[in-house]
Amino acid sequence: ASIDEAQATAWLAGPPGAPLRAHASHKGSYGDVAVIGGAPGMAGAALLAASAALHAGAGRVYAALLDPAAITVDPSQPELMLRAWETLDISTMHVACGCGGGDAVRAVLPKVLAASGSLVLDADALNAISSDTHLQNLLRSRGRRGKPTVLTPHPLEAARLLGCKTADIQSDRLRRARELCESYESVVVLKGSGTVVAAPGTLPSVNPTGNGRLATAGTGDVLAGMIAARLALGDAPADAARGAVFRHGLAADDWPASEALTASALARRQAGG
Ligand code: AMP
Ligand code: MG
Repeated sequence: ASIDEAQATAWLAGPPGAPLRAHASHKGSYGDVAVIGGAPGMAGAALLAASAALHAGAGRVYAALLDPAAITVDPSQPELMLRAWETLDISTMHVACGCGGGDAVRAVLPKVLAASGSLVLDADALNAISSDTHLQNLLRSRGRRGKPTVLTPHPLEAARLLGCKTADIQSDRLRRARELCESYESVVVLKGSGTVVAAPGTLPSVNPTGNGRLATAGTGDVLAGMIAARLALGDAPADAARGAVFRHGLAADDWPASEALTASALARRQAGG
């Protein structure tokens, strides 16, 4: 199944990116996002996801960087609240986790998987889950309890989760995305050219936007933050995933020909900025 025009129009309704702010509203009306990730040398991954969530319209965005030597304020985005992950009340937030988490992410995953809020799991969080049956069981138990979860593997991460080769993923992307979705009762975003979104109880869809300019470091982290923001704004998980993937690709399709696409610029421009 592919995305129909009416659905695409619905995703693009209203102004680009962030939703209109109603008069009788405040930041709490637009949801909280917490990004947990950023191992040594990978802090930028979490900061990119956080920036994307801010620009996609989340009310408040927190980031917990797992590198103990990481910055405690990001001067380029001072609205971002950097906190130790232990101090975040993740029960009230929509979390994007594992953007460059490395080993440290293993320590936080049991708590994050048990949290009641919705969750976007990316990159090293997925790699940690692939090699740890306890974490796999925690993820399955989330699914069974109906806690919203979105997994965003690229083909290699999907291969690790399914215990197969990357070529086996790429030769049958719709089926593999569906297998992952059924195994974890989670929404699955299988990234790469022709991103597949598989959600429980529906046929998987192939996203029509995006191009090779996205093949650059950090664009996956931006997508994780965009999905988390849409969850914070109240989208159902399948809509959050499909809508964010659509806009992420559209921003790349509309990119000025004379300008390089970088992840930090994408985090801003996905919102039309
Ligand atoms: P990651 O692999 O986590 O860095 O994420 C890369 C992001 O860019 C994903 O959203 C991919 O779907 C997208 N992407 C990478 N390469 C391409 C491509 N050749 N065509 C379309 N999208 C791509
Ligand atoms: Mg990635």
